[in-house]
Amino acid sequence: MPGRFAPTPSGRMHIGNIYAMLGAWLSARSRGDGMLLRIEDIDEPRVVPGAAKLMMDDLHWLGLDWDGDPVFQSARHDLYREALHCLENLTIDDAYDSPFDERNDHTPAVGSAANNAIAGTTPLIYPCFCSRADIRAASAPQEGDRFTVYPGTCRRLIASEPQRAKQRLANNDRHSMRIATADTTITFHDEVFGTQQYNLAHDIGDIIVRRSDGIYSYQLAVTVDDLDMGITDIVRGRDLLRSNALQIYIRKALINAGFKPSEPTQPFHPADGSNKPDDVTISYAHLPLIDNAAGQRLAKRERSLDLGILTAHGATAQQIIGYCAWLLGLQGDLKHTKPQPMSADEALGVFSWDAVRANTSDRTLDQGEFNAYFGL
Ligand code: GLU
Repeated sequence: MPGRFAPTPSGRMHIGNIYAMLGAWLSARSRGDGMLLRIEDIDEPRVVPGAAKLMMDDLHWLGLDWDGDPVFQSARHDLYREALHCLENLTIDDAYDSPFDERNDHTPAVGSAANNAIAGTTPLIYPCFCSRADIRAASAPQEGDRFTVYPGTCRRLIASEPQRAKQRLANNDRHSMRIATADTTITFHDEVFGTQQYNLAHDIGDIIVRRSDGIYSYQLAVTVDDLDMGITDIVRGRDLLRSNALQIYIRKALINAGFKPSEPTQPFHPADGSNKPDDVTISYAHLPLIDNAAGQRLAKRERSLDLGILTAHGATAQQIIGYCAWLLGLQGDLKHTKPQPMSADEALGVFSWDAVRANTSDRTLDQGEFNAYFGL
């Protein structure tokens, strides 16, 4: 059952996403499984023309192969619309009507949607008329990553004044669509970070599934795609751990809503149609992030880490893969070893999750040592 690469085509491949993709490739190939490529170009304003082709060429050059044709999110608006339409038929209780029973350690929910003051009346998907400024003004200060827990303004509007919400929709007032999250805890096992628990309502909140400009959100698109493509091996950065809990919830809701994978265009849909999405084991692995010496996350704009710059200075694929394999922990203890060039196939020979999780701290990329290794 396949894993996936899911790059956002915003530039050349760089050390950060090569590291993540090497992890994904090694995970899938070490099980003898397929690897699918999905170009996450749904957020069209962010897409750099030509970048998807450059990234695919970079992956080939690095020896990181995939099976079948790449899937472009930009060509799947109809699928996302259909998925959202299915979810619109549910209430928050329907989304969560049975405990998580997939074998991938989604343990039964703690608490239930019944704890919710307006349980049973909250549609799972609801329109939100708030502007960013409204949300900022109404939100408690947030620590940490990209989530601002939505304060629930329009969810209360729908519950208390449904006619007013209807009127605003009839007036074509600008609105996004949100998914209502239950006050419930999602538990899953991560290959690197072990057991993870997030309370949906408190840690995540009602997130946007379709933006007010009509673009389907990352969270919806990724969940629909992973389900539709039959993905069972998800490897990516640890900044998406919290999103993973949300995606488990959306996935469950899609299955409960009767959302069916599309035509079997992908090589891994069983031809006999025996794909039972609610019956699969999914493996999740979230990788430590890479920081610079000052503890800041590597930004894609750090151009010296971009494959275009590295190859212009004569870097070889073996050097780059070796460096990323070292970052993953596959060349021994990061503190006491120096990176060594190796091919993707050699990395496959030494890959294990034990080696990666031996050190779960974020990786530090020392620019001086990096430059010396690559002869920059
Ligand atoms: N497209 C996302 C990125 O480039 C990855 C999303 C995912 O793996 O779910 O960061």
